[in-house]
Amino acid sequence: MKVFDLHCDTITECCKKNVSLYDNDMHLSLKRMANYEEYTQVFAVWIRDEMRGDVARQYFDNVTDYFYKQIEENNKIVSVYGDEAETKVKAVLSVEGGSACGGTLEGLTHLYNRGVKLITLTWNSPNEIASGAFSEGGFTSFGKDFVKLSEEYGIVLDVSHLNRESFYDFIKISDKPFVASHSNADIVENPKGRKRNLTDEQIKLIKERNGIIGLNFCRNFLESDGLFGVDSFIRQLEHFLSLDCENNIALGSDYDGCSIHSDFVGAEKLLGVYNTLSERGYSKQLLDKMFYGNANRFFEENVKGL
Ligand SMILES: [Zn+2]
Repeated sequence: MKVFDLHCDTITECCKKNVSLYDNDMHLSLKRMANYEEYTQVFAVWIRDEMRGDVARQYFDNVTDYFYKQIEENNKIVSVYGDEAETKVKAVLSVEGGSACGGTLEGLTHLYNRGVKLITLTWNSPNEIASGAFSEGGFTSFGKDFVKLSEEYGIVLDVSHLNRESFYDFIKISDKPFVASHSNADIVENPKGRKRNLTDEQIKLIKERNGIIGLNFCRNFLESDGLFGVDSFIRQLEHFLSLDCENNIALGSDYDGCSIHSDFVGAEKLLGVYNTLSERGYSKQLLDKMFYGNANRFFEENVKGL
């Protein structure tokens, strides 16, 4: 079984706690990921909302140094996605919070040069680019330049964490395929989830642009009305299928970034989730697309330099 997961906070947590990516007690470890046929993981450097300017940029460099150090130390198991090495685990570097650029386009060039392939434009507060899910306002003029230059570099842009106004600004600024790396459909009664997740209209716009949406395992975005774990995930899956999104759904686990039901914790549980969904009648073709194929196709088509 192959896995392609669009979002986790594992490398940020590993760096903070100074623990190994190979073997740890977190949701993801290379040791457990290597049990799969192939496991491509987008690892986010999460820039907290209180970090801006040089502080954000320095923090990005610290975590990114740690990311490459872990890959170097474990190069029999993991390599950078797009490299020649034939390893079980492929790692994609992303940032969650475009403030990692320090608020300058030269800083964005720095992110590109360090190998960033995907940028989640904001976290929950406003930043130099746009306003996030728990704040008011849309894109700034710097944000427009940021989007244009990112697209020239072939960096994938990610609308997860944008508020509605920023999302609709983004649709006007960008004409490229894009992702929501870790967002669900706004069908669960949870005040925080409602702001973070996508309306049907947003989902249709992502689909029209040939984008993909990574389904999030976060309990707050899944659970309500007596549905938990895989059952609550199936409710999301059914909703996306009702919107004809078979070719647009992927995984966006949010591992090591939020509270997750035991059905999904951690990498080693994905095989069981796949098998449960198969037993419930979902086809191998559909499951292979959601667990791997759609995201892999999107990256092959949209990330330059692979
Ligand atoms: Zn997030």
